[in-house]
Amino acid sequence: MYKRIVFIIAFICVVWVNYACVGQEENIRWVTLKDIARSLENQPPMNVGFDIDDTVLFSSPGYYYGRQKYSPGNKAFAIMEEFWNEMNNGLDQFSIPKECARKLIELHKKRGDSIYFITARTKTKTESVTELLEKTFDLENPHKVIFTGIKLGENLKIKAIKENKIQIFYGDADSDIEAALEAGVRAIRIMRAVNSTNKPLPHNGSFGEEVLVNSEY
Ligand SMILES: [Mg+2]
Repeated sequence: MYKRIVFIIAFICVVWVNYACVGQEENIRWVTLKDIARSLENQPPMNVGFDIDDTVLFSSPGYYYGRQKYSPGNKAFAIMEEFWNEMNNGLDQFSIPKECARKLIELHKKRGDSIYFITARTKTKTESVTELLEKTFDLENPHKVIFTGIKLGENLKIKAIKENKIQIFYGDADSDIEAALEAGVRAIRIMRAVNSTNKPLPHNGSFGEEVLVNSEY
């Protein structure tokens, strides 16, 4: 009798958890590349912005390397100048461009939109990220990457989005979506790959924003 009750309770829990997950997935505003293209028909060229890490580049290899080298076992490397100098000046040779980004950038290039990259990486005296993105995504005269850095309690991307008159901002982090919404522009979520070293994973769709399907890679 006892076993049967335990079994029934376990069964109810499994059904309830599954139902809750399905419910969450259903509430997400999924969009395809075609949906985005269609939504922009008849709209004049505009400025669009992209976050970099886990949005256009799978850059975990560089961060993984930096952590092993500068602060094994903790995240202290992320506030070290030496790490950022390396990261912004060459480690992206190990970053894998995301396919969804290639397609999105192609779409915006065809429309004649102006493409900006806004990252919270720490700014360094020199950087080769702009050049890498130029080559990777075949960009003509790209704008220099905007490195906002991080300030506790302030989302520095808001200002960058406003200053550059960005009308659509793509990003994987909750802070990217927040920045776009705070700046009063359209936010589109790019999904972070589950094997990214940047954990915990964000909450896709949690702001009611559009989420691009199959954007983990
Ligand atoms: Mg990111």
